[in-house]
Amino acid sequence: QGVDFSNIAELEVYQEGPARVDPIASFETAGLHPAMLNNVKLAGYETPTPIQRYCLPAIKMGYDVVAVAQTGSGKTAAYLIPILNQLMGKAKKLAATRPNPAAFREGVDQAVRAEPLVVIVCPSRELAVQVFTEARKFCYRTMLRPCVIYGGGPSSEQRAQLQKGCDVLIASPGRLIDFMDDTRLLTLRRVRYMVLDEADEMLHDDWKGDFDTIMSGGGELLPIQRGNVRYMLFSATFPKQFRDLAKNHLAETHVRLRVGRAG
Ligand code: ADP
Ligand code: MG
Repeated sequence: QGVDFSNIAELEVYQEGPARVDPIASFETAGLHPAMLNNVKLAGYETPTPIQRYCLPAIKMGYDVVAVAQTGSGKTAAYLIPILNQLMGKAKKLAATRPNPAAFREGVDQAVRAEPLVVIVCPSRELAVQVFTEARKFCYRTMLRPCVIYGGGPSSEQRAQLQKGCDVLIASPGRLIDFMDDTRLLTLRRVRYMVLDEADEMLHDDWKGDFDTIMSGGGELLPIQRGNVRYMLFSATFPKQFRDLAKNHLAETHVRLRVGRAG
């Protein structure tokens, strides 16, 4: 794919947390599901970037993660690959417990409520679409179905997509909260992974309310099963507020990863 990582390949990764994370040396030795390894190769990824070398095992170990690495260092795949990989092992079982398995099969035109297993919150439409494009590559030939929703887009089309079923929901915060109001359309009760990408952007005043609603994870709006959810914050910078956010919202035993001395 021609992405040049020579400037970051040798950067050191600093880690803090309850256990030492052993970085993976390659995608081949990361214990990935065969379908995932195949998709990683199809995407043209040969070697994991530094943040990926640590994030894959940290997420596999079941930790909440705060990851800080500069733009362009492969943060999207650093959470998508391990999260989707975890679900792939259980895909058949998960598919069987879908609200309406028949609706997932092609040709069945029957609306269902979306009950995603993964929610990835993206503060801009551009980012949401980018992450969706990546997610589609990694979900190829698996039973996992990604969907994207964002403000300013055609609401009825996005609703229709959701109602075909959704395992991996990529969403802007406003549209997520908007759709959550309609519990016949979307519920977060099955969510296992909640990712905030470009989480530093969401600290801005415009997003502050949405951020708190999403992170508080309880209440009527977001009936998240708190204990079942792994939270991930991904960002290019580490603002001071992250420390409090992590303290308030992430598991006490979360892993913090930081590439280089930036941020
Ligand atoms: P970030 O979120 O850190 O800014 P991205 O996840 O957007 O970075 O990745 C930047 C680019 O690098 C994307 O085009 C992505 O497809 C590509 N990429 C990510 N990881 C790898 C990899 N291991 N090998 C090759 N290309 C990669
Ligand atoms: Mg990114």
